[in-house]
Amino acid sequence: MKHLYSGKVRELYERSDGVLLLVATDRISAFDYVLETPIPDKGRILTQLSLWWFEQLADVVPNHLVQAPIPAEFAGRAMACQRLSMVPVECVARGYLTGSALADYQRSGEVCGISLPPGLSDGSRLPEPVFTPATKAPLGQHDMNIPAAVVAEQAGDGVAAELARITLDVYRRGAELAASRGIIVADTKIELGFDSGGELLLADEVLTPDSSRFWPADRWAPGRSQPSFDKQYVRDWLTSPASGWDRRGPEPPPPLPGDVVERTRRTYIEAYERLTGLQWA
Ligand code: ATP
Ligand code: MG
Repeated sequence: MKHLYSGKVRELYERSDGVLLLVATDRISAFDYVLETPIPDKGRILTQLSLWWFEQLADVVPNHLVQAPIPAEFAGRAMACQRLSMVPVECVARGYLTGSALADYQRSGEVCGISLPPGLSDGSRLPEPVFTPATKAPLGQHDMNIPAAVVAEQAGDGVAAELARITLDVYRRGAELAASRGIIVADTKIELGFDSGGELLLADEVLTPDSSRFWPADRWAPGRSQPSFDKQYVRDWLTSPASGWDRRGPEPPPPLPGDVVERTRRTYIEAYERLTGLQWA
């Protein structure tokens, strides 16, 4: 097997027959750092959640998964997939306003060239879900939101329209299902690629806490940052005086205390169990 690439939290391998293995580790990132403390089981939880979603979405969009044996060392945290020619666009759908879209809105009243009504605040529900593509930034830089018209210039009108349609369909299906389980999908990022026959397939991971914002619906209150089913405890602890860490300084974040690790692990498990209705091991 050939090691192709290390991302912040995943490793990409290629088998001799050309099948890709997308392997999730237990690494966690926060504030653009990969932390030195792993979250036990995170890789398996996110992989199992992704696999479950691919199945739920099978009638919405075909995906990159293939059948292939997974080496024992990657058991439970690897996806075997066909190598695609990836569309170099982060395809994002948003049903709620936060993060980079909130910053863009506060500056210009628009997100990706889409004008939004006045008076929205952090966590506001949008009148309808919007497609807000972004360019994939090189390591260490932030993705940049771009208008759909720019995607159309690069990829062609037909492909751009397909990207928007698929992204919004995936978001709507995911949000609808999650809502029935008390979870708001504020936004989600997907990646698509072409197979050798020129068909667009859903790739990468899908509707995981690393690619989406999941908020507990019963605690949603626009006008502040929302509690979320992911790194909440990690971010809160790192920015609290207890960590002794200066986010704006040159030092990387300190190791996480055991209780922050365990609560974060529980949060990922709770997201998995609530969304899928299955019990985690
Ligand atoms: P980040 O940690 O910010 O996500 P990254 O995107 O560089 O950084 P990963 O997400 O771990 O790191 O890397 C996975 C890579 O594999 C991405 O570049 C993604 O586009 C690519 N990828 C996913 N599925 C496929 C596929 N079926 N064919 C080819 N490349 C794929
Ligand atoms: Mg990625």
